[in-house]
Amino acid sequence: MSTIAGNLQAVEATIQVACEAAGRPRSTVQLLAVSKTFPAEAVLEAVAAGQRAFGENYLQEGVDKIAAVAKALPDTRLEWHFIGPIQSNKTRPIAASFDWVHTVERLKIAQRLAEQRPPELGPLNICLQVNISGEASKSGVTPDELPELARQVAALPNLRLRGLMAIPEPQIDPELQRVPFARLRELAQAIVKSGIHLDTLSMGMSSDMRAAVLEGASIVRVGSAIFGARHYE
Ligand SMILES: *Cc1c(COP(=O)(O)O)cnc(C)c1O
Repeated sequence: MSTIAGNLQAVEATIQVACEAAGRPRSTVQLLAVSKTFPAEAVLEAVAAGQRAFGENYLQEGVDKIAAVAKALPDTRLEWHFIGPIQSNKTRPIAASFDWVHTVERLKIAQRLAEQRPPELGPLNICLQVNISGEASKSGVTPDELPELARQVAALPNLRLRGLMAIPEPQIDPELQRVPFARLRELAQAIVKSGIHLDTLSMGMSSDMRAAVLEGASIVRVGSAIFGARHYE
């Protein structure tokens, strides 16, 4: 078995155990394999092991990889999620190449994605990134501004607002890891209560996926636990 296939099995086991502990069916959590910095060959290995949803952070790298993988596997339907920071002049290729965007934090970006989404592809799935840890340096809409942004984005054409996403400050203690995830879940519940449909909580990475599943994650975004350590150039 390849290393990636073995790692996928281990991640799958972690998710299963967390689902059991949370009393949740395994089918309520989607594993997003974060392939940033890894070549198309790594994605192909993961696909051979049964993985179908992939996340990318860097636009050019992601677009090139999507094309390379599509060329190698023209008949395999994969799902591509954009999970990196978005520059407003780079929205067009995101709207044309990806199925999901997890990192919308401003109305202007959502408006551009809505205008630029090719209609034949169907609506682009959107998560709003929330600044849950409250540090000045981190991206995401503030919890205060979130309800208004959700209302505005939900009204845009060509987009489907699906839920919320967060990248909390790294935290080693497994109990403390749960705190910001619980907060994100509560923020989503409040929006649902206001009459906006949401079905997605994108939260949890390699080091905190168990805590995220315990607090209701519906997508965990896992990179290094599947593909290994990243080396940036
Ligand atoms: C890189 C990245 C991940 C995956 O992180 P790991 O710690 O490698 O699992 C998840 N989400 C986002 C937004 C990322 O940028």
